[in-house]
Amino acid sequence: QSAPRPISALSADELAAEHERLRAAYADLQARGLKLDLTRGKPAPEQLDLANALLSLPGGDDVRDASGTDTRNYGGTQGLPEIRAIFSELLSIPAENLIAGNNASLEIMHDLIVFALLHGTPDSARPWVREETIKFLAPVPGYDRHFAITESYGIEMIPVPLHDDGPDMDVVRELVAADPTIKGIWTVPTYANPTGAVYSEEVTRALVSMPTAAPDFRIIWDNAYAVHTLVEECAPALDVLGMAAEAGNPNRVLTVASTSKITFAGAGVSFFGASAENLAWYSKHYAKKSIGPDKVNQLRHVRFFGDADGVRAHMAQHREILAPKFARVLEILESRLGGRDVATWTRPEGGYFVSLDVVPGTARRVVELAKDAGIALTGAGSAFPYGKDPQDTNIRLAPSFPSLDDVATSMDGVATCVLLAAVEARLG
Ligand code: PLP
Repeated sequence: QSAPRPISALSADELAAEHERLRAAYADLQARGLKLDLTRGKPAPEQLDLANALLSLPGGDDVRDASGTDTRNYGGTQGLPEIRAIFSELLSIPAENLIAGNNASLEIMHDLIVFALLHGTPDSARPWVREETIKFLAPVPGYDRHFAITESYGIEMIPVPLHDDGPDMDVVRELVAADPTIKGIWTVPTYANPTGAVYSEEVTRALVSMPTAAPDFRIIWDNAYAVHTLVEECAPALDVLGMAAEAGNPNRVLTVASTSKITFAGAGVSFFGASAENLAWYSKHYAKKSIGPDKVNQLRHVRFFGDADGVRAHMAQHREILAPKFARVLEILESRLGGRDVATWTRPEGGYFVSLDVVPGTARRVVELAKDAGIALTGAGSAFPYGKDPQDTNIRLAPSFPSLDDVATSMDGVATCVLLAAVEARLG
């Protein structure tokens, strides 16, 4: 077989022939009547099954934690010491700086923004809502639900480019130094959604130490994929709170994580890690909405994991299910699109997504073509603030939920759509 040729190198006749060929391939694809879904990064049922022992834990009359607290009752707003100790080790956050909560870290992030808006942070001159304008930096592509929170409260978002080792710090530094209305930045430091970027120590130090015009600037450090490696060696969690304290900005970082993609996505345990002052601030406001988290669920998780190594061993089982799916995605992208000059994509070492960049101006078209062939893709632009990808180029692929066969079928179909849209764009 001859080497694949870039679409851009084809003559007018060759391009017309390629168009015909792809239209036929697309018609075949449509004729298959597929009903496949690569949209949301949910664990597959087999992954959830890995944690089914939780359903019968803690079991019997096992209701007390190591300190004797009755988990069935109210109270214990910081969460069980044992679960905090386990995740302290995994997240590199001192246990005294880590709170264990209910099932969703997104809820914590939402609260953090709302508390800052209505009450101000410990470093704010006034509640954020009293400011004329408030802005947040949004590394892109990023997590749509982060952007949805800030959008829903009228916080303006400024996109900044995300590289493999974190946000473009030249851009970030310049923006935050000059503009006191920029109050924070969204981050996913490990195996970022959707690119798989892992923030380097250098970028992390720069983020926690850079001068900011806003004295109450906050980094939402969403370590949702801290232990979700697809390779042997997991990226280490950085001691971001320690680094921030060392840099003289102990209150700058608000960290969250959860077991949503470790145990059950709807019934895990979330974590909030921050300086003592930030924890006191959060707990004071949180105490108005709850008399304590679901400690029975926390105890269940303690019994299930045992210790941090128990979590690591559990993640190795997830990896056995997920790694082949990611490998298949990359194989198909390479074999169908490699050398055609129509797309680039990330090769994540962890997390839940592959980020695909198609010919600028064609992402929407690709998603539409895929939809009409029965393959649901995440909406084009969804990884950008306000759902607007200025280049119309990015598509987030989420291969975790479908079976390996369905991943392969979907990706082959997606590749056909990417090529067809690229040829259409060239034909004008
Ligand atoms: N943060 C990121 C980056 C995510 O990708 C997700 C889920 O997709 C979440 C947070 C949601 O976490 P939780 O289930 O703890 O609310």
